[in-house]
This record gives sequence, structure tokens and C-alpha cells, in this order.
Amino acid sequence: MEKLGLFGGTFDPVHYGHLRAAEEAYHALGLKKVIFLPTADPPHKKRPDLSPFELRAKMVRLAIKGVPYFEVSDLEERLPHPSYSVRTLKALREAQKDLEIFFILGLDAFLELETWYHYQELPLLAHLVVVTRGEGGQEAFLKKVQELFPIVHQEGDIFRFPGGYTLRYLPILRLDISSTYLRKLVRKGGSIRFLLPERVRKFVLEKGLYQVDV
Ligand code: ATP
Ligand code: MG
Repeated sequence: MEKLGLFGGTFDPVHYGHLRAAEEAYHALGLKKVIFLPTADPPHKKRPDLSPFELRAKMVRLAIKGVPYFEVSDLEERLPHPSYSVRTLKALREAQKDLEIFFILGLDAFLELETWYHYQELPLLAHLVVVTRGEGGQEAFLKKVQELFPIVHQEGDIFRFPGGYTLRYLPILRLDISSTYLRKLVRKGGSIRFLLPERVRKFVLEKGLYQVDV
């Protein structure tokens, strides 16, 4: 079985917080590769100023250039909208049966998992890996697990679901960077240098992204 990391997000723009999360998950879990999945139509984000899918995917492509174990996929653009992770995971598993998928998400996202479409099915389709992000840490994670999945079986630090998939917390270096913060900085004419790859910074400026407050 090929161990594949999947990392979904809006990536508007992609930054070092995303890249380090993927890098740390890759090494900690011994993954073959990590696939970045830009969301085509995020159900949670009704942002009228969301950049077009193509531009967000392009920024990820620029960011991961030269990293042989990182890839970007346009799967969610091709699937029906809105983009639901459960639907994406089912499509991936149908396309390739011999995959062991590790779905990577930040703690902020996990803490609102109950708002995701059919979230109970997620751990029946893939391993879930929750990385440090924003407020809280392992304690907040454990509390949320109790709330969301009260009867899940615990094996040490790992939770195991019927079918064998697991849920775990992966502590990573906390980088307090968000795309929202970067977009605000650009709009104010501030510098975003050193918070994201230089190629992405240049692309943002060239395309005039995030200039207008919608
Ligand atoms: P926005 O501010 O627009 O919400 P964001 O920086 O939160 O952008 P997203 O595209 O929403 O980025 O996040 C995609 C995934 O990456 C989520 O699972 C999120 O938790 C995770 N993530 C985002 N930023 C970081 C970070 N700095 N460290 C760790 N994980 C992160
Ligand atoms: Mg976010």
C-alpha cells in the first residue's frame, strides 16, 4: 500500500505554515508523497474575493517546485461543487484502490469538523492527521475527539476506527501565519516577504492579487 498524504485548503495564497505542515507530516508519517488539494468551491468560505482556482493552484505549483515528494492536484476542480472532502476521498479511493490515505488538517479546521459535510465518514475513508495550528494543542484535540467520536477506540496516542483507519494529533512547529493575514498585508501595501516562497510573493504582486477590499 502506498502511503499518500492529502492536504486540502484554499491556499489563497499558500504560505510557509502550509508548507511546513506538509513537510513535517511527510517525514513523521513516512509518506511516499503529499498531494496539495486546492479547494475549488469551499463550502465554509463564502468569500466573494476568493482567487480563481487556477491562480491558487498555480501558486501551490510555484511553492512546491523542486520538491520531488510534493504534488498539486486539480481533482476538486473536476469533481461536482461544492468541494466536500468526503466526496473527494471517495473519488480518490475509487480511482486507486491500493492507497493508504493520510488526510492532513490543522487543529483550527479539526475544531470545526462538525460543520463539514458527513464528517463522521471521514475516518472511514482515510487516516486523519491533525497538526498544530492556532490556539490550543493536544488537550483541545483530545476534548474534540471525545465530543465528535465518543466511542472511538484509543490505542495510546492514536484513535482507531472500525475499518482500521486512525486519527492522531501531530505536534509541529507553530507558525502563526495565515492567508487572511497575508491578504490584509498586501491590501495595506505592506511586505509579505519571508512569510511565503519568493516565487509566490512575486506572482501575487505581478497578478495584482488581494489589492481590492471586496
Ligand atoms: P485563511 O486565513 O484564508 O483561512 P489559512 O492560512 O487558514 O487561510 P487554509 O487554506 O484555510 O489556510 O488552510 C488549509 C489547511 O492548512 C487547514 O487544514 C489549516 O488548518 C492548515 N493551515 C493553515 N495555516 C497553517 C499554519 N500556519 N500552520 C499549520 N497548519 C496550517
Ligand atoms: Mg483557514
